[in-house]
Parts: sequence; structure tokens; C-alpha cells
Amino acid sequence: LAERSRLPRHKVCGEFLSPEIERELELLGVWREFQGASPARIRRLGLHFGSRSKFARLQEHAWGLSRYAFDDLLWRRAFALGAERAVAPADSAQVLASGRDAPQAPRGGRLFGFKTHFEGPQDDAVELFFFNGIYVGVSSIEGGRTNVCGLGPEDYLGRFAFDYDRVIQECAPLRSRLAPLTRVMEWLSTGPLEYRQRFFDALPGVYRAGDALSFVDPFTGSGLLVAVRTGAMAGRAAARRFEAEAYLEQARRSLRKPFAVSAILREVVASGWAERLVGIAPSRLLFALTRPR
Ligand SMILES: Cc1cc2nc3c(=O)[nH]c(=O)nc-3n(C[C@H](O)[C@H](O)[C@H](O)COP(=O)(O)OP(=O)(O)OC[C@H]3O[C@@H](n4cnc5c(N)ncnc54)[C@H](O)[C@@H]3O)c2cc1C
Repeated sequence: LAERSRLPRHKVCGEFLSPEIERELELLGVWREFQGASPARIRRLGLHFGSRSKFARLQEHAWGLSRYAFDDLLWRRAFALGAERAVAPADSAQVLASGRDAPQAPRGGRLFGFKTHFEGPQDDAVELFFFNGIYVGVSSIEGGRTNVCGLGPEDYLGRFAFDYDRVIQECAPLRSRLAPLTRVMEWLSTGPLEYRQRFFDALPGVYRAGDALSFVDPFTGSGLLVAVRTGAMAGRAAARRFEAEAYLEQARRSLRKPFAVSAILREVVASGWAERLVGIAPSRLLFALTRPR
């Protein structure tokens, strides 16, 4: 494993894991460790567009676990199975799981992500707040904490000098959701980010996985599931020396649905129709549609 940063560490992420993660973690032999990290159970989905809100019960419950804990348990599992830390990537077949590349967007129109943890009363919903071109996700994680993670355009964030405590005050439903909580960590920032989907082409002998393979909009909450699933698929393909092209087609098929749905959702949010549509479209349907097959 070639990893350039020190782990474990906090990361800008909604820390929301969809229900299908259970099967993937069982296959990797870490489901017990995952449970041992005491993830929060998430049973409801709440969507807030401007002043309109909608809640739905999830058919299966999802999970909230910090990236600090989640990345650490996968990292440890790899070493328990015999992985070694490499200084540089090997020349032979490689799984490329290096995450997103920074987009080449011009200054002013770029997007940045931010996140922190709060402590205080927890609940069992993952809530998404959309306002002024920003979205913020709020959900419980382990240890009595609540993760707050957002994504927004730099011109808007710049008006607040990237002071995220002030940004979150701009949305009344978010303000009241966080009122009983206390921030217990500095804000983390990341970016610039892309807010679109892409799927990379095959390179001979290289098996891309996770965000290095595809990037789906963060608010669909399936990035971690896709990363774990395609990471395992890429590992098997590399070990058996599959054609990289055949592997890519298999991965593409498994990701087709969330890609198509997230494109529609992005248009809906960008067009300003979201506030009206949230009264009509069942949140549970949106959640179901954004899952990889
Ligand atoms: C704001 C935001 C919120 C999100 N919220 C959620 C959510 O709630 N739920 C969800 O499922 N998904 C969410 N996502 C998406 C999710 O974070 C990603 O899909 C996921 O992290 C992809 O995992 P990955 O392993 O492919 O990449 P990463 O998690 O980015 O890991 C890549 C690793 O590669 C290392 N690396 C990079 N280059 C090199 C190099 N040259 N040499 C060695 N090491 C290198 C990095 O240090 C890093 O550790 C969110 C994304 C954003 C931006």
C-alpha cells in the first residue's frame, strides 16, 4: 500500500454509509470491527430546501461513522492480511485509489467542502439542507458526536471569509438543528472540488477504484460504498490480471444508476425547482434511486 498521508486522520466527508455497506464489509471480513467502532444508526432521511422540509423513513437503516475510524479499520485490516507499506507504487498491476484530482476551474467559480464535529443530543436522521447554492449534511456518528459537512461556491463562502460558523447561520432550519449542539473540532476545508460526475477511461494494467474511477455528487451519499465495492472489484481484477477494459465495463455497469439519477438531481437543484419538487418527490425514492446496483 502506498499512502502519502499519515493515518488515521479526519477528512472532509459526510461520514454517512448507506445500508449496502454491510455486505461489502462482511466480504472484506471487517463487519465485526465496524460494529465494534459503535457507528450511529440512521433510520430517517430529511431534506430541507429553503423553508420546505420533508422526512422519510429509510427501508433499511444506514450508518454514521467518522472517516477517522472507518479508514483506520480498513487500513488495519489490510495489514492484518499481510499488506506492506510501500514508499512508491509498484510497477506491476496496480489498483489506483488515489481519490479525486483537483479540477482546473477558474478562481471565483470553484467549490469547496468543509466539515466539523459537534457534541450534544443526537438523532437518527441524515438531514440535507440546501440554501444559496450550498448544501450541508448533518448526521450522527460514533461517540455521541454529530458530523456537519457542506459544499459551496467560493464566491459565497468568500463573503463570510470562509468562516463556516457564520455560513451555517444563514439557513434557518440548519440554525435550529444545530442550536442545542456545541462544536468540538476546528473546521476542516477541502477543494477545489468538482460537482459533476465523471468516469475515467482504462489505462493498461491499472485498475482504478473509488473517486479515481468515478466521482458521484457527494449528496447522493454513495461515494464510500462505491469506493469499497470498486476497490474490492479492482483488487480481484488486478490479482487475476483481467483486462483493465473488461474490469472497467463491469464497474461501469454497477455504477450506471447512481450516475444517471445524480445528474437529474443536480439539474433540479441548479434550476431552483428543488423547493417545489420536494413537496412531490418522495425522499425515500430519491434515496433508493441513488444506490449502486
Ligand atoms: C464534501 C463531501 C462530502 C461527502 N460525503 C460523503 C458521505 O457522506 N458518504 C459517502 O459515501 N461519500 C461521501 N463523499 C464522497 C467520499 O468522500 C468519496 O467518494 C470517498 O472518500 C472516495 O474514497 P477513495 O478511497 O476513492 O478516495 P479518498 O478517500 O480521497 O482516498 C484517497 C487516498 O489516496 C491517497 N493518495 C492520493 N494520491 C496519492 C499518491 N500519489 N501517493 C500515495 N497516496 C496518495 C490520499 O492521501 C488518500 O488517503 C463526500 C465527498 C465530499 C467532497
